[in-house]
Amino acid sequence: MKPLSSKNLAIEESMTLAITAKAKQLKESGVNIVSFGAGEPDFNTPKNIRDFAIKRIEMGGNGYTAASGLVELKQAVCDKLKRDNHLEYKPNQIVISSGAKHSLFNALQAICNPGDEIIIPSPYWVSYYELTKMADGVPVLVEGSAANAFKVTVDQLEAAVTDKTKGLLINSPNNPTGAVYSREELLAIGAFAAKHDLYIISDEIYEKLIYGETHVSIASLSEDLYERTIVINGLSKAYAMTGWRIGYTACSLAITKVMSNVQSHATSNANTIAQYAGIEALNGDQTTIEEMRVAFDERRQYMVKTIGEMPNVSCVEPKGAFYVMVDISYFKGKSIDGVLIKDSLDLAAVLIDKANIAVIPGIAFGVDNYIRLSYATSMENIVEGLKRLEAFAKLF
Ligand code: PMP
Ligand code: GLU
Repeated sequence: MKPLSSKNLAIEESMTLAITAKAKQLKESGVNIVSFGAGEPDFNTPKNIRDFAIKRIEMGGNGYTAASGLVELKQAVCDKLKRDNHLEYKPNQIVISSGAKHSLFNALQAICNPGDEIIIPSPYWVSYYELTKMADGVPVLVEGSAANAFKVTVDQLEAAVTDKTKGLLINSPNNPTGAVYSREELLAIGAFAAKHDLYIISDEIYEKLIYGETHVSIASLSEDLYERTIVINGLSKAYAMTGWRIGYTACSLAITKVMSNVQSHATSNANTIAQYAGIEALNGDQTTIEEMRVAFDERRQYMVKTIGEMPNVSCVEPKGAFYVMVDISYFKGKSIDGVLIKDSLDLAAVLIDKANIAVIPGIAFGVDNYIRLSYATSMENIVEGLKRLEAFAKLF
C-alpha cells in the first residue's frame, strides 16, 4: 500500500481527550480513579435548553440548515456579542460550527498559506498546535513565564515575529493556565498585531468563567482590531453544552466567506437541533451561568489553597476557566518504586498507577514542568483527589 498523508500522519492524538477517555474507562472497569482530566463542566445542560431541544425534535422539520448556520442563531450570537462584548456584527459575519474547535479549524484554514507562521503563546490549549499544522501553518511558541501569570509580553512577541508571521492566537481566559489578559495588555498586543499586520484569532470560550477579573474582547478595542480579529466562542463551557457541539466565529465578511465555503464541503451545518437549542441558550434565562461560575470559583479557591499547603508542588492562582497548572519540576529526575520520572508524561502515568488520579501532563500544553488539574469535577472528588496528590508528594 502507498503511504498515507505525511501531513496527517504527523498529527498527534488530543491528549486531553485521550486521558479523559482513559480515566473514564478505568473507572468503568472498577478502578477507584479520581479524574482531574476532563475539560468539561460536570453540570447538566440547563433545563430550559434541554426542554427547548426536546420540543424541537417533536416539531420535526429538522433537516439541513444553511451550511454556515441558522439565521436566527446567528442573530442570537450577534445580540450576545453586542450585549456582552460591545461588538457589532451582522448575521452574515457569523459562522456556526460543530464546536469552537471546529471554528478554530475553519479560522486557521482561512488564513494560512503553506509555511505561514502562527504565534501561539504557551502554555497553550493542546489543539492549537495541531490545528495550525493541519492548515499547513507553522506554530511558533512563545512561553509566558509563571512569574507573569503565564502571560506573554509584547517584547517576547516582537522577538518571535518574522516576515512569515501571519497571525497570533490569544486565549483569554486561558486553558490551561487560567490567565486573563487585561485591557491594557490586549491594547499592547493589538498594537503589536497592527504593526506587523497580523490576524488575531481570539478564543474567548471561557469568558463567562472568570473570577475577580473582567473579560475584554480584543476586537472591541478599535476599528483596526475589529477588522483583523476572528472572535471564537461557543456554548460548551458557559452553558455546559460540550456534547451538543456548537461553536461560532465572528469576523470580517471576507474571512467569513472562506470559512463558510470550507465548512460547506467539510461538514455542512452544525447539528440542527443543537443550533435551535443554542438560540434558547443565548436568548433564554442566563442565571445558570452565574450559578456554575460560583461553584467553579469555590472549587478554584479550595484547589489553590490546598495545593499551596502541599510539599514539593506549587501553583499560580488561575483567574479564569477551570484548570490549575501545578509545578511538578521537583519530581523530575526522581524515582518511585524503581520507576524514573523523566518528564510530565511519566509523572502523569505514575500518578494514575500509584495515586489513582488522572491529570494532563503539561507537555500537552507545551510546558513540561507542570501538570494540569481540571476542577470541573465535584468538590467531593477534588477533596479526595488532592488528598491523594498530597500523600504522593510526601513520598519524596
Ligand atoms: N478552546 C479552548 C481553549 C478549549 O479549552 C476548548 C475545549 N473544549 C475549545 C476551544 C473547544 O471547545 P468546543 O469544541 O467544545 O466548543
Ligand atoms: N478543552 C477541554 C480540555 O482541554 C476538552 C477536551 C478537548 O477538547 O481537548 O480538556
